[in-house]
Amino acid sequence: MIVAALTVGSACGQPDFASQRQALVEILREESARAEEYGAPAISESTLAVIGKVPRHEFVPDMEQSFAYANRPLPIGGGQTISQPYIVALMTDLADVSGDDVVLEIGTGSGYQAAVLSELAGQVYTIEIIGWLGERAARDLERLGYDNVSVRIGDGYAGWPEHAPFDAILVTAAPEEVPQPLIEQLAVGGRMVIPVGAQDEVQILRLLTKEADGELRVQSVIPVRFVPLTRD
Ligand code: SAH
Repeated sequence: MIVAALTVGSACGQPDFASQRQALVEILREESARAEEYGAPAISESTLAVIGKVPRHEFVPDMEQSFAYANRPLPIGGGQTISQPYIVALMTDLADVSGDDVVLEIGTGSGYQAAVLSELAGQVYTIEIIGWLGERAARDLERLGYDNVSVRIGDGYAGWPEHAPFDAILVTAAPEEVPQPLIEQLAVGGRMVIPVGAQDEVQILRLLTKEADGELRVQSVIPVRFVPLTRD
């Protein structure tokens, strides 16, 4: 109980998550400016506005609540993690989602990245390979009113061909190579954001854009560390 008392901030005994969220947005704005000096892309104000809106504390386990708005990854069970907010913001920004866009995410995890995307897209499809994790995320997303998100349990390597082509694809677990089915399911003009590399090596966050002639343009963004993309 003493621990709980130390971590709550406001008079009514509930942590002031809204203020913590705004403080996080400020930290990301600063981090974005710093990263830009090293050649990383800046994070747009529209993406920061979404980070300022989505309740990350609803997607982290009770034990981690007091760290919900720290700029770091957190354990979500099953050896998996909810990504660091800076990485969520960067990947969202690179995916450049808007309007009626149809988006595919591989690696639902907590559902937080899907919630962020759902604020910007027309429809979000997300696939999680660990059954109970995907089911929990689906329940949380529904409870919070993210009704343009569909969660499927399965191996995301194969994508979700029934809903292809996708305007954007985000992969939040790292394969050693970009899965060919995902390349095929990317719309012309579409963007794929994906960490690529072996677990014992530095992974590189890549941005793949499908050009009008069907050719892929591949850009390396920054070194990252993700859990592996596992296979069924
Ligand atoms: N985007 C998540 C974080 C993902 S962590 C969030 O916002 O919380 C990576 C997730 O990818 C884990 O939950 C892991 O189980 C899942 N994963 C790993 N391999 C997968 C695969 N082949 N298909 C679908 N999900 C996979």
